[in-house]
Amino acid sequence: MAAYLRKISPRAKPLIQAARVFKNDHPIRSASAVPEAGGISFQLSPEQLEFKATARKFAREEILPKAAEYDRTGEYPWDLIKKAWSLGLMNSHIPTHCGGLNLGLLECVTITEELAYGCTGVQTAMEANSLGQMPVIIAGSEAQQKKYLGRLTEEPLMCAYCVTEPTAGSDVASIRTRAEKKGDSYVINGQKMWITNGSVANWYFVLARTSPDAGASAGKAFTGFIVDANTPGITVGRKEKNMGQRCSDTRGITFEDVVVPKENVLGSEGVGFKIAMGAFDKTRPPVAAGAVGLAQRALDEAKQYSMQRKTMGKLICEHQAVAFMLADMAIGVEAARLLTQRSAWEIDQGRRNTYYASIAKAFAADVANKAAADAVQIFGGNGFNTDYPVEKLMRDAKIYMIYEGTSQIQRIIISRELLTQNTNSS
Ligand SMILES: Cc1cc2nc3c(=O)[nH]c(=O)nc-3n(C[C@H](O)[C@H](O)[C@H](O)COP(=O)(O)OP(=O)(O)OC[C@H]3O[C@@H](n4cnc5c(N)ncnc54)[C@H](O)[C@@H]3O)c2cc1C
Repeated sequence: MAAYLRKISPRAKPLIQAARVFKNDHPIRSASAVPEAGGISFQLSPEQLEFKATARKFAREEILPKAAEYDRTGEYPWDLIKKAWSLGLMNSHIPTHCGGLNLGLLECVTITEELAYGCTGVQTAMEANSLGQMPVIIAGSEAQQKKYLGRLTEEPLMCAYCVTEPTAGSDVASIRTRAEKKGDSYVINGQKMWITNGSVANWYFVLARTSPDAGASAGKAFTGFIVDANTPGITVGRKEKNMGQRCSDTRGITFEDVVVPKENVLGSEGVGFKIAMGAFDKTRPPVAAGAVGLAQRALDEAKQYSMQRKTMGKLICEHQAVAFMLADMAIGVEAARLLTQRSAWEIDQGRRNTYYASIAKAFAADVANKAAADAVQIFGGNGFNTDYPVEKLMRDAKIYMIYEGTSQIQRIIISRELLTQNTNSS
């Protein structure tokens, strides 16, 4: 443990200390340490278990009790964000040279699943930071990383990923926002839509068309920029009233003659599409983990309720129809968790995980939606009412089929990877 602590930022210390306090009542703490040998292991390492335990304690003691109120008011959960940041539960993949923890994706999905159990609105607000950061992590220069990722480790600041537009979501290559080179700067004009953390971000990743050639391929036509949120010409729209995850901040953003220095180009001109899409390999596994956390919560709520509610002289869990619904929910949760972990593990091994990331995201989204709907069913009339927690889960679950690539787009990716035999599947 001491050697491990030396490798990571001092900000991990409170997290690990908090984990120690919690470890005695953690249900899987008693399991033996991860085996050194190769081959398949389903056992998390002691450090991973500590991260999990800290996230679990925070989610259950701090997020969960406030989730319904944040859902009702739609207020941004700053208090929870700040506390999660101080515990080291956010920005976990920022490199150590920027003051981050540089954790692997397996640690990240483990933490994310636990946070999502408390409230996926809060988890999405946190996860959107990872999405905004990822282009800078994969393509930023050391100076860009130190400047923009470094500040996120110094104080609890947010960032955002600005790609989608009112007329282009799945069809990223059709975005219309333009950046024109003028001297040592670029001037950005255009409109983005559905930007998570839109009004609270300190800086944005923005994808814009730079090629004047209308026939240029997506791989050459777009450039990624880091844009400070306080740059003149940026107007943030109203907070969108969404079906679920209501405390997450979703906005349209308009860029009008926004001047960005050429130092803020990510990679080089023309490679933005690849950077923007490449980020998803590392962010779809945590999105899948969010869906798993929600599905686990739906299962736990439904199980607990079914062991208290009686009809026809028995607990409803004693009716086979209800017990089998719980069993199906458990099958979905376990399978979605394994797929999510596999997709994260692949990238931690340094392998391309596009196929697994899309499978995990698509499957976990379906599982979350079915589990939440089944939980409402098991609660009966109470499930349809806001005094009980499961209607929120059903509203919150839907977005997992839409953002970071819809379930249809995931299936396009999976089939393409499959048909070009671009998978590590064995
Ligand atoms: C709450 C929320 C938060 C979001 N956060 C962000 C963010 O932070 N940053 C950001 O850039 N974007 C964000 N988005 C945008 C999100 O990624 C897009 O909404 C999503 O990619 C779908 O794009 P669209 O809404 O334009 O739908 P469309 O692309 O218009 O799709 C409409 C329907 O057609 C289907 N479809 C489209 N093309 C095909 C095809 N080729 N084959 C089969 N089916 C197809 C889709 O699956 C969908 O069912 C967010 C969206 C929401 C709602």
